[in-house]
Amino acid sequence: MLTMRSINPYNGEIIASYTKHSSSQVDHIIQQCHAQFLNWKETPFEYRATLIRKLGKDLLDRKLQYAAIITAEMGKPIVQAIAEIEKCAWLCDYYAENAFSQLKDIVVQTDADKSYIRHEPLGVILAVMPWNYPFWQVFRFAIPALMAGNVAILKHASNVFKSALTIESAFQNAGLPDHCFRSLLVGSDRVANIIEHPLVKAVTLTGSGSAGASVASTSGSLIKKTVLELGGNNALLVLRDCDLERTVSTCIAARFQNTGQSCIAGKRLLLDVAIYNAFMKKLLQAVANLKTGDPMEMETYIGTMARTDLAETLHNQIQRSIALGAKLEIGGKHCEAYFEPTVVSNVTPEMPLFYEETFGPVLSITTFKTIEEAIQLSNDSKFGLGVSIFSKNIEAIESLLSKFDEGAVFINEMVKSDPRLPFGGIKESGYGRELGTHGIKEFVNIKTVYIKK
Ligand code: NAP
Repeated sequence: MLTMRSINPYNGEIIASYTKHSSSQVDHIIQQCHAQFLNWKETPFEYRATLIRKLGKDLLDRKLQYAAIITAEMGKPIVQAIAEIEKCAWLCDYYAENAFSQLKDIVVQTDADKSYIRHEPLGVILAVMPWNYPFWQVFRFAIPALMAGNVAILKHASNVFKSALTIESAFQNAGLPDHCFRSLLVGSDRVANIIEHPLVKAVTLTGSGSAGASVASTSGSLIKKTVLELGGNNALLVLRDCDLERTVSTCIAARFQNTGQSCIAGKRLLLDVAIYNAFMKKLLQAVANLKTGDPMEMETYIGTMARTDLAETLHNQIQRSIALGAKLEIGGKHCEAYFEPTVVSNVTPEMPLFYEETFGPVLSITTFKTIEEAIQLSNDSKFGLGVSIFSKNIEAIESLLSKFDEGAVFINEMVKSDPRLPFGGIKESGYGRELGTHGIKEFVNIKTVYIKK
């Protein structure tokens, strides 16, 4: 296929068709980006920060326009799309403010007359990104990468090319030099060739395990650095002493935000059997109250999933779990890409709803009797992105932190990303970190300098 189409999952309209870049076009773009890198890496931090701040301002100035593109391309409710754009603007301000101090030289006392550590950019970095947060996923890589002096090329998911090109134009609107950030309109079959390009120095991928393994394998064979942000199957661990009202509403947001299509969504709710009835009553009521509908309307909380095939996969996971004894409490039906908010109880570790990642609006419920059992259930996953624990006894939970095999533990809050905190997983959720000080150091050469007089 030489063209790619963006299709609105809510109404089936074709938003746009794009001609894919040829191999020689891709090569030309990479050459242009490399040429820009040689200039950009020499620019002072204040200059980069001024432009990145302008980019943040452009995002805020045009947030409705950008949010509408996200919603049209992947079905996210417009209010959540606006929040995504605002978060990208916050990220721009955060790194504009902090990159200099995060990357300044670090003097280390040794037997040298002077020894210190420099952080130098690597060059052209390839980002392979998913459709679920079409702006945020790209920005959280690109902004620290650019502030560090790198330049970025983006291979976005094939269903969100309009977002990809819009992000590129936002960089231009803000006055960033040409070719600091470019979008490549190519399918996943071309990623290996791009990684092999000698001017591409490192790769970051956010997406599925199979895509991550493929990118890591190509990059590994060429000794190129990778960061992988992959799937997740986070538990929401609800203890008997939690604040019931607050926990229910946080769990609802953790699972149903973005119509359930988030790597860090709370997918497996582990519920203390002692509060089962009281909790379930409130939970099911809250799910029944979720406002579904046209994602362009401000009141809508549950839009459509991004594609019909994703809804079909989710339906199949539910059906296979029900066949093994799970109980459908609410929802369960879908019509093309729209999926009803769904809760399934009686879920055990042998069921797909427990051991597979579910990428849509379905929450599975599994009960436990003791905290030891809860920890074991929480860790019973090939993924290790994060866990949320709900309890008033924070001291007791903090004493158990080392028992959770996760990249993040959130207490009385949903797992969420924050520009100030590192984000990433362990096990099959990937490796490396984005955001915070750790994120900006992923794509730099940590250079040791040792001077003897
Ligand atoms: P996906 O199919 O892996 O796609 C992600 C990106 O990888 C797309 O640009 C895709 O291109 C590309 N891709 C797919 N197969 C590839 C391959 N073999 N080699 C190179 N590139 C390849 O994932 P998705 O279904 O769009 O997204 C959902 C997954 O992403 C879930 O597992 C979710 O948990 C994970 N995710 C993780 C995070 C995190 O931060 N940890 C965040 C969001 C999502 P095409 O679109 O052209 O196929």
